[in-house]
Amino acid sequence: MKQRVVSGMRPSGKLHIGHFHGVLENWIRMQDSYDCFFFVADWHSLTTEYADTSGIAQSIRDMVLDWVAFGLDPEKCVVFRQSLVPHHSELNLILSMITPVSWLERNPTYKEMLDNIEQKDLTTFGFLGYPVLMAADIILYKATRVPVGHDQLPHLEITREITRRFNYLYGEVFPEPEALLTETPKLPGLDGRKMSKSYNNSIYLSDSAEETRKKVMSMMTDPARVRRSDPGDPDVCVAFNLHRIYVPQEKLDEIIPACRNADIGCVECKKILADCMIERLAPFRARRDELAANPGFIDDLLQEGSRRASLISDAVMTEVRTALKF
Ligand code: SF4
Repeated sequence: MKQRVVSGMRPSGKLHIGHFHGVLENWIRMQDSYDCFFFVADWHSLTTEYADTSGIAQSIRDMVLDWVAFGLDPEKCVVFRQSLVPHHSELNLILSMITPVSWLERNPTYKEMLDNIEQKDLTTFGFLGYPVLMAADIILYKATRVPVGHDQLPHLEITREITRRFNYLYGEVFPEPEALLTETPKLPGLDGRKMSKSYNNSIYLSDSAEETRKKVMSMMTDPARVRRSDPGDPDVCVAFNLHRIYVPQEKLDEIIPACRNADIGCVECKKILADCMIERLAPFRARRDELAANPGFIDDLLQEGSRRASLISDAVMTEVRTALKF
């Protein structure tokens, strides 16, 4: 029997290529070898966006359109929306009763975000408790594996602790989910900082060919290469991080020495990158346009996926209530 994987994404709207290579590509790979449940974590959005929820519905549609257009197949995995499966909320409530506050307060992301995000008041019960909701999201489907990067291991550890506590108090209902460590390529934005919507430095999956070319041509290169005649270093070149993903190896083998000997200029080099990116992304972008022409498509897909997810979660919640002697 296939191992079960559960993973979610907060609805952040249109995805950029950092999201694609960091998360979505892994999901697409996993859908053939695991029993996968992928969800839109819209209730998680409320932990930080509670003051203005007006953009969430559109962000969900834009994001799921990217998921499907770029290769997530709802026939191979369950694609659903968290808030359409209210069992997430019921299990969250039960788990919140057994989770010590000290476990949540020592969560490194919680402390970091409280310190760094000044524009929003994050001193809420919901924000402190988001790892409990995350635990509910995962164990509700009895997931055995959770795809995570190294930096997310502390989150998974809280889920595992909560699972052990539940099983200790009420009997062995849930398997303890294990990490499925995923490779996340380092993908800087156009200006060399982390690719992020808030820095306005992203290349989106849904960008047109022209927008992609314009963005690639504006991308930072090796900061020490001021003149065309200066030798460059691909290892410190911001754009070259994308070359490694999109440009075929034979071409890279030509570019690397040519850059080091100043035989190729950055304009020419980035043109090669833009051409390769545009060519590789074109069929997915065409598919995205096709799907976007049917306005009800994503809503229907999420309704159906959420119905399928509920069949599993309903049975698990019956077990939970029995274990609690309710
Ligand atoms: S030639 Fe290419 S690899 Fe070298 S610094 Fe310019 S863009 Fe980067």
